[in-house]
Amino acid sequence: MNTETPFEKIKIGWFVFSCSEDNTIMFTELMNDHWQEWKRIFDFRHVKVLKKNNIYDAFDIAFVEGAIASPEHEEKLKDIRGRSTKLVAVGACAVTGMPASQRNTFTPEQKEAIQFLVDRFGALPEVKKVSDVVAVDASVPGCPMNTDMFLKAVNALVAELRPELVADPAH
Ligand code: SF4
Repeated sequence: MNTETPFEKIKIGWFVFSCSEDNTIMFTELMNDHWQEWKRIFDFRHVKVLKKNNIYDAFDIAFVEGAIASPEHEEKLKDIRGRSTKLVAVGACAVTGMPASQRNTFTPEQKEAIQFLVDRFGALPEVKKVSDVVAVDASVPGCPMNTDMFLKAVNALVAELRPELVADPAH
């Protein structure tokens, strides 16, 4: 139990795979309006854009940004899933794979031309979306992500994980 609040804060993880992090930027922009509210109910346990010292243990909500492009990504994502109650895919590449997975649609000749790069970086034969690898509880599409849908997903998860906060907003 957190000593500053009468309830256990919701533990948040934010993880980035193959992505240029537009969704991370939108997340931090949302803090202009939501920081006071979120710092009261969220424990930003592993959010590298916010702090240097992060804790990688258990999460109530893990947000995952970017496509899954290597076996290491697959293993890491499965590990995150295993330690998270809810997992949310954020942004186009996490939700649909595209545009990061564009090489999946290449012709055989194009694939042959880039094979040396796939080999050099130890990449998967085909780039995957998050739900190809693990179960996903919510998806927020768009790039950058649709912030209205993000807030809707976050609020729904807060209501599910901590119904007492909705029942008594004074908490
Ligand atoms: S297009 Fe894909 S890689 Fe680029 S920022 Fe959006 S989700 Fe990330």
